[in-house]
Amino acid sequence: MTPETRHYAPLARRVLILVAAGCVAALIGVWAWRQPFMAVPRAIAALQREPAPMHVPVPVLGVAPRSIADTWNAARPPNRHHQGVDIFARRGTPVTSATRGLVIAIRDQGLGGRQVWVLGPGGERHYYAHLDAWDRDLHVGDLIRAGTQLGIVGDTGNARGTPPHLHYGIYTANGAVNPWPRLQPVASAHRP
Ligand SMILES: [Zn+2]
Repeated sequence: MTPETRHYAPLARRVLILVAAGCVAALIGVWAWRQPFMAVPRAIAALQREPAPMHVPVPVLGVAPRSIADTWNAARPPNRHHQGVDIFARRGTPVTSATRGLVIAIRDQGLGGRQVWVLGPGGERHYYAHLDAWDRDLHVGDLIRAGTQLGIVGDTGNARGTPPHLHYGIYTANGAVNPWPRLQPVASAHRP
């Protein structure tokens, strides 16, 4: 052995140990990622990767897209603007998820009253508000398909006393966007 190889041998051993430890950590990571308890993080990662849908079905049973008014950004005195669309229907009409996704909140709070939040494709959050009630079988952490019933139309929150409707909002990483164009049939996108 030359003096150089003696000098580098401990360093090489350390590097090999580090590489081996790295491989073991990576294998454990891959194994853990595939376990059932990682289903939610896996679903979130998959949803973030997917493109956001530019067209979604109307999330209230039996409501035609053309009957929905585009009230995006309408003034809401004293100092707010409407950050969604209102979909009017009889109290108790089923509200269904416009997208597949992960249920991230179910709560009764503030302006929205009884509300459900769904993390959908593209990492967008879909907001369903003024519900009379949410579905008894729905829980935070549920992975749901498009069309899953979230609750029923009502007038909770600041809609109390107004005609029952669903307030539907879509929030991207950059804030609220108008859901109305996405509710319209694909063909209308090509009309003047
Ligand atoms: Zn509204």
